[in-house]
Amino acid sequence: MTESGSGNQKAIVFNVQRFSTEDGPGIRTTVFLKGCPLTCLWCHNPEGISPRPQLLWFETRCIGARDCLKACPEEALELTPQGLKIDRDRCTVCGLCEEACPAAALEVVGKEWSQEELLVEVKKDESFYRTSGGGITLGGGEPMSQAGFVAPFLARCKAEDLHTALDTSGIAAWSLYEKVLPHVDLLLLDLKQMDPEAHEKMAGVKLEPILENARKLGKSGLPVWVRTPIIPGHTDSIENVRAVARFVAQEMPGAERYDLLAFNNLCSAQYERLGMEFPLKEAELVRKEEMEAFKEAAVEEGAPNVHWSGATRLEEK
Ligand code: SF4
Ligand code: SF4
Repeated sequence: MTESGSGNQKAIVFNVQRFSTEDGPGIRTTVFLKGCPLTCLWCHNPEGISPRPQLLWFETRCIGARDCLKACPEEALELTPQGLKIDRDRCTVCGLCEEACPAAALEVVGKEWSQEELLVEVKKDESFYRTSGGGITLGGGEPMSQAGFVAPFLARCKAEDLHTALDTSGIAAWSLYEKVLPHVDLLLLDLKQMDPEAHEKMAGVKLEPILENARKLGKSGLPVWVRTPIIPGHTDSIENVRAVARFVAQEMPGAERYDLLAFNNLCSAQYERLGMEFPLKEAELVRKEEMEAFKEAAVEEGAPNVHWSGATRLEEK
């Protein structure tokens, strides 16, 4: 994550989700930016990890027309009995196969948006924001990995009197947060695992710099909604939830709310489209009783305004 580009005009965005109700208060538009320095095993948006555009292949749409093979200047595609093979070392993500495919089975994820284009897009739902108390949320990936775009873009949103939220993993350099925070109304912060060794193993980065930022964010004067994804075998212990909740209660006076988000594996297909392995493909949903117990433990530790959400399974383990 660099400090360069204070005032970048363009960002690589992989999704603009309108009518979102899970990324802050009210009806919102969530803009998902590409690039994340973490590599969480359960990442729900695997297309958000790489900072560059990527090619997706939708197996269920493919009719074997072979137009993509003819269109590819790099000879990066091969149609096999097992499906389309993409040589991702050769692929330059030029998008010619996407244009050629008559079944829309290939798609480049990650397009360049200018500040102007994005502002026009997010303002389409301005009246919904006003009536519902919503606004815009920047997520990802890790939006702070494109901080040079995020700071001036959020400043423009504020100039339009839009409510702004930043959904961050807490990993960026503090000097970057200092540039972005003046334009943010609400912070959404993920705290996943409080054991340093386990954290590094599952997210690929050290825990301490994140906690250091979390303390500062919690004292920045901005409201913070802290979130913990409950991931089977990784974050789903009462001790872990207690440790996060205690940290939130004791070290983050700005924390307004604590959310526990139950795991689901709906992202499996997206991993396949990217040619990536999803390590938690076989993992089961968490039980409702477990989520209730996590919530109770978090309340006991003093975390504010605790909620849980997400799909759960009914049967006993
Ligand atoms: S994106 Fe371009 S280089 Fe990559 S497979 Fe398609 S046509 Fe070939
Ligand atoms: S921090 Fe979020 S976007 Fe980054 S790898 Fe983890 S789950 Fe994915």
